[in-house]
Formats: sequence, C-alpha cells, structure tokens
Amino acid sequence: MSIFSKIVNGEILSYKIYEDSNHLAFLDIFPISKGHVLVIPKKEIDYVFDMNDREYTQLLLFAKKTSLAIKKVINCNRVSLNIVGLDVPHVHIHLIPINSISDLNFEKQKLTFSKEEFKEIAALIREAI
Ligand code: AMP
Repeated sequence: MSIFSKIVNGEILSYKIYEDSNHLAFLDIFPISKGHVLVIPKKEIDYVFDMNDREYTQLLLFAKKTSLAIKKVINCNRVSLNIVGLDVPHVHIHLIPINSISDLNFEKQKLTFSKEEFKEIAALIREAI
C-alpha cells in the first residue's frame, strides 16, 4: 500500500483539505512554498498516464477546484500544476503557489511549518473551497 493510500485511510498523519468520493487534497509535508498541496485519486495508480480518460479528467477538475481555493487565500501570482511522481508511486498533482519560475525548484530547501501552522494553512484553503 502506498503512503498516500495510508493517508486516504487515515492511518498516518496528514493535513487534509478537502475530499470527494474519489479524490483527496492535502498539504505536502515538505512544501516548496506556503500552500503547496497534493491532489490524488483515492484509487492507487502509479503512473498518471495509465489512468483512463475519465479518471484523468476528473482528477484535473478536482485539482482546478482546489487551485481556485488556494489562489483565494495564498498570496501568489499563479498556482502552478506539476506532476513528477518519481518518489511516491501513487498519482499526485502538486499545486504550488508561485511568484516566479525560481519558486518552482523541487531541489531547493523545503519550508518547515509547525503542526499548528500546517493545520491553519489547511483550514484556510478548506474554507475557501
Ligand atoms: P514526487 O513523487 O517526486 O512527486 O514527490 C513526492 C511528494 O510527496 C514530495 O513533494 C513529498 O514532500 C511528498 N510527500 C511524501 N510523503 C508525504 C506525506 N506523508 N505527506 C505529505 N506529503 C508527502
């Protein structure tokens, strides 16, 4: 079972923002910017382009809804949408608030937040959905 399936099942700690029957949005625990969110299908699929067309488009629509909420409450020029998937074999879209291209560096030092701060950011975005 992937670490993200464990998050879906509530077996490990996460900062959930919003979910529907097939998707979940939660905070990336090693954020590259404030409001860095992951959006996943609850069904465990490794590679995004193995999703069928319906699953794929539904995931993108869920990501759009989440992105609009992020943009309302996190100060940024854009919310970027990125798929990497080299570390966790469970499809996930990174929604990352950015002001410039240099903000989009996955190798830079990650930000750290306290549990309370993570909870506050998740609640802020949740309330904007
Ligand atoms: P990648 O598979 O390369 O797209 O990267 C996986 C992403 O998942 C990274 O940004 C990690 O910080 C994030 N990540 C890994 N474990 C967790 C977790 N338990 N909770 C939230 N995010 C995680």
